[in-house]
Parts: sequence; structure tokens; C-alpha cells
Amino acid sequence: MKILVADDSLVMRRLLESIIDAWGYEVLSARDGGEAWAVLSQPDAPQIAILDWMMPVYTGLELCAMVRELRRKSYTYLILLTSRGLRQDIVEGLSAGADDYVVKPFEKQELEVRLRAGRRIIDLQAELVAAQAALMEQATRDALTKIWNRASILEALDREVIRSQREKRGLGVLMIDLDHFKLINDSYGHQAGDEALRETARRMQAAIRPYDSLGRYGGEEFLMVVPGCDDFCLSAHAERLRLVMESETFVVAGQEVRLTASFGASSTSSGAETSAEELIRSADAALYEAKRAGRNRVVMAEPLTK
Ligand code: GH3
Ligand code: MG
Ligand code: MG
Repeated sequence: MKILVADDSLVMRRLLESIIDAWGYEVLSARDGGEAWAVLSQPDAPQIAILDWMMPVYTGLELCAMVRELRRKSYTYLILLTSRGLRQDIVEGLSAGADDYVVKPFEKQELEVRLRAGRRIIDLQAELVAAQAALMEQATRDALTKIWNRASILEALDREVIRSQREKRGLGVLMIDLDHFKLINDSYGHQAGDEALRETARRMQAAIRPYDSLGRYGGEEFLMVVPGCDDFCLSAHAERLRLVMESETFVVAGQEVRLTASFGASSTSSGAETSAEELIRSADAALYEAKRAGRNRVVMAEPLTK
């Protein structure tokens, strides 16, 4: 773990460097507040810093406030090093954003336990951030395919409907349903079916632009939101995706299988006041039509221009 030591006294710096290095930390040094800020404001800044209170350029106190202003996701544990041991100074230091303070001259052992306490906080905070990310993933992603789940893709659609109206751009929606998917389950088993769903999601995700969103709408049905796409663009997009499915066989349960999809496409022209519900409803109707007309095809709904 990296630790920043900032002190304008060379003697103090050397002392801190040698003892902290001996405890197995990687030490970075700064001669004044300016150098310390250059290190602490980097994206991969050390997560623990020992800051002298009185330093040129920025004081330790100012640095504490500046680091807190960054509002980093990963926590920076700040220890103020000071010869000012008055209760009032300590209150001032802690309220500026320091986590702890050590009064000079300090006991080696005292600094060691305070560093260990800092490490504990950093580790706990990292666990918390990871747990938060895992919860977020669980809440927004489809467990099988890892693409957006139904709630999230509908949220993305709502967002894009509002954005397309504000920016007066077109918006496309694709409702995609695998053809005769029940046959895959019936012939090769449910696990093979799951595998085919994962591969479908992977292929489509690989074929879309970064600002398009793909979600699992239901069992073997997918919803794609394609911002800035009028019906001409959407039709080309859907046809490309259809070919992505058709052109390469799927390997399920060790066997090569042909798996195709039907596409219902619906779009709004730029500036039209269409709702998410209308887009979905008309894409769904177009999908129904694609199924009825023989599957493995794209059917375009009339563009919504209201
Ligand atoms: P169509 O071409 O008309 O869409 O026929 P289909 O067989 O694809 O449609 P149908 O709605 O009759 O059947 C969908 C099947 O998808 C039935 C269901 O068991 C299967 N399915 C839905 N979700 C999952 C899943 O998570 N895993 C697996 N393996 N199968 C699923
Ligand atoms: Mg189907
Ligand atoms: Mg279906």
C-alpha cells in the first residue's frame, strides 16, 4: 500500500520515510503542500497521507479540505502531523477533513497503530464499494445474459424518449424474439437453451454501437433502444442483427444448431412526441407481423410522427 508523506523538514521526511518503509509500505514524499497536492490529486493517489500542518504552498489543513472536495469513490485517509497539540487545533484539523492526527514529537509505535487503523478504514471502504457495485449489478442486469434486465432497459428507453424530444432526433426501438426457441429446449434441454440465450445476447451486444442499449425483455425476447436512428437507419440496423443471428450456427449441447430471430422495429421521427409505451406497442405489433409472415425477418412499423 502506498503512503504519502508531506513535510517541509528534510529531517522529518527522512525519519518518516525510513520507519514507514520498514513497516512494508511504499512511501512517496512531498516537500511542500504543492507537491503533496500534485500526488493526491492524481487518479491513482495513495490512499493514506501523512501531512504536516505547517507547510509552504498549501498547509496540511488546506490539503485535507481540498482532498475532501474531490469526493473520490475510494477513500483517502488523512493523518495530520502537528506540533500543535491543543484541543482547539485538533478540533480544527478534524473538521477540515483529517481522519486522525499525530502530535510531534511522536512515538513510533503510536504512528504504527494509527496507520493500521487507517488501513482498516480503507479496506472496509473498499469492501463497501465492491458490495455496492455487486448490488447495483444484481439490480440492473439480467442474471443469465448479463445484459440489462427488463426494468433497466425500460428505464433506458424512457430516458432516450425524453432526450430525443429535447434534441429533436429520431429514436428507434427493436423488439427481438427468437424463432421456435421452444424447440431448442425440447430437443437439447433447458441448459442448452440458456446457453443459446447467452450467446444471442453476446452476439447482439457485440454488434451494436456503444450508445445503443440492449436488454432482456422477457424469456427469449430482447429489447433494443437505438438513439438517433430514424426508420431507414433502424431497418439497416435490424437487418444487420438478423444476419448476425442467421449467418453463424450456434453450438448447443455440442451440436450445431441454426437459430434465427424475428424483429419488430418502431421509430419516431425527430421531434415527434411519442411515448415509450407507443414505441413498444408498435414494435410489438410489427414483431407479431414478422412471426406471422414466416419468422427470421424484420418488419418495420409505420414511423410514429405525432
Ligand atoms: P416463436 O417463433 O413463435 O417465438 O416460437 P417460440 O418457441 O420461440 O416461442 P414460445 O413463446 O412458444 O416459447 C418460448 C420458449 O422460450 C418457451 C420457454 O421455455 C423458453 N424460455 C423462456 N425463457 C427461457 C430461459 O431463461 N431459458 C430457457 N432455456 N428457455 C427459456
Ligand atoms: Mg420465440
Ligand atoms: Mg417469446
